[in-house]
Order: sequence, then structure tokens, then C-alpha cells
Amino acid sequence: MINFDFDSVCVLSGAGISAESGVPTFRGGGKSAVWKGMPFDEISSAKMVKENLDEVWEWFDYRRGVLKECEPNKAHKALVKLEKTVDDFLLVTQNVDGLHTRAGSENIIEVHGNINRSRCVVCRKRFQMQSHHVPHDPSKCDECGNKVRPDVVLFGEMLPSGAYERAVEKASGCNLFIVVGTSALVYPAAILPEVAKRNGAYLIEVNPEETPLTAYCDESLRGKAGEIVPDLVSNLIA
Ligand code: NAD
Ligand code: ZN
Repeated sequence: MINFDFDSVCVLSGAGISAESGVPTFRGGGKSAVWKGMPFDEISSAKMVKENLDEVWEWFDYRRGVLKECEPNKAHKALVKLEKTVDDFLLVTQNVDGLHTRAGSENIIEVHGNINRSRCVVCRKRFQMQSHHVPHDPSKCDECGNKVRPDVVLFGEMLPSGAYERAVEKASGCNLFIVVGTSALVYPAAILPEVAKRNGAYLIEVNPEETPLTAYCDESLRGKAGEIVPDLVSNLIA
């Protein structure tokens, strides 16, 4: 167990933290791994936005519909508790489900965007959608009349500039880095734990399975986020 005074904490979360809320992960298989015969990295791609935006929206509206029934779980809530206790805290999430914010997390970067936001394909104006409003609304930009698309980072797209740089800066300066529920395969977010470790942070992973990060973690806590994270946080702030 950790035996030093940490004052700067960075957490990276992935789809696994929301699994116990009923949000399917992709690599974990299940219904959402494939949509109408297309693998998720094909339907969730920049190419599909260009070629068949209606189909992309059908898939995202399906996911938004699933999310309507989902609530933040004990792991999301425990991270809010940790944030309130530590002066210097940043949560970086790859998730687009908005559950961290709904749980009460404030200092958060959603590196892959948010499923309940859309943006114009031309002028990039952003629109906040109501989570209960499925299918999406609006379908056209009220500024320039062009189509809107989900405001999330799709396969084949860059992360929004600024967000990633801020996350890297925090990862390199923190002394405790916690990774929860990510297979650590999706770059460039997966590089954050490496940056933290290289700069001397203590690295803890929470995942029921081994990941490419496991080899260089100081602690790998095997199990479900909803069970492990609340205990971890209690121990850290005790
Ligand atoms: P991922 O690569 O983050 O993999 C999911 C990981 O979660 C796996 O390592 C799995 O072992 C672990 N896991 C499963 N159940 C868990 C639990 N109860 N507690 C802790 N860990 C658990 O995610 P992916 O599904 O392969 O998705 C790839 C990309 O799509 C990522 O950017 C991801 O965040 C995004 N995505 C987001 C959501 C969401 O917003 N909730 C859902 C699916 C995918
Ligand atoms: Zn527009």
C-alpha cells in the first residue's frame, strides 16, 4: 500500500468504470461491439461521418437511449470524494457518457467529448442536447443551417487541442496516478500513465483483467471498479 504523502492526484478512467452502471464497454463484447454488422471502430469513425452521417446518428442515438437508464455508480461517486479531499486533482476520462459529471466531478477533462453534445460539421458551433431527448435535437445548425454531428472524438480523429496538453502536463506533475477501467489500448490517452510513471508518480491500476499497463504498475487491483475504488479512496484519505 501507498506509504507517502501524495498531494497531486491524476485519475484516468475508461469504459470499465461505467460498466456497473449498465453502460456497455466495446472491447468487452456485448451488443454494442457490433452495430448492424459493423464493428464499433467502423461505425464510430470520421469516415462514416463523411459517408453516412444518418447511420452514425442512429448508432449514437441508440447509445444515448441506453444511457438514459444509467446512473453513476459507487466508483464515480468515490472519485468525487477523492477530488474533494485532495487540493490538486484532475480526472481525465475517455468516456463520453457524462456519468462523472452527473456524479459531481468538477475538475474533469472529457478527452473524447460527450455523447450529449453535438456540433456543426461546418462552423463547429456546439449544442447541448437533453439526455432524455432521443433521437437527437437539433438536427441542423441554427447558425449556418448545416448538419450537426456527435461532439465526440471518433476513430481516425485527433483529440481536441488543449485538453490533451493539459492532461499530459498534469500527468507529468502528479505523484499519484490511478487508472480505472481502461484497456489502455486507445492512444493517445493511454500514454498518460506512462508519462506519469516516467516522472516518478506511483501508479495504481483498477481492472478485473490484466492490461498492457500492468507490467509497470506499482499496484494492480484486480476487480470491479464499483467494489475496488470506494475502498481504495477510503484507504487513501484515511
Ligand atoms: P476500454 O478500452 O477502456 O476497455 C474497457 C476496460 O474496462 C477493459 O480493460 C475491461 O477489463 C475493463 N472493465 C470491464 N468491466 C470493468 C469493471 N466493472 N470495473 C473496472 N474495469 C472494468 O474501453 P472500450 O470499451 O474498449 O472503448 C474504447 C473507447 O471507446 C474508449 O475511448 C472508451 O472510453 C470509449 N467508450 C466509452 C464508453 C462510455 O462513455 N461509457 C463506452 C464504451 C466505449
Ligand atoms: Zn453551423
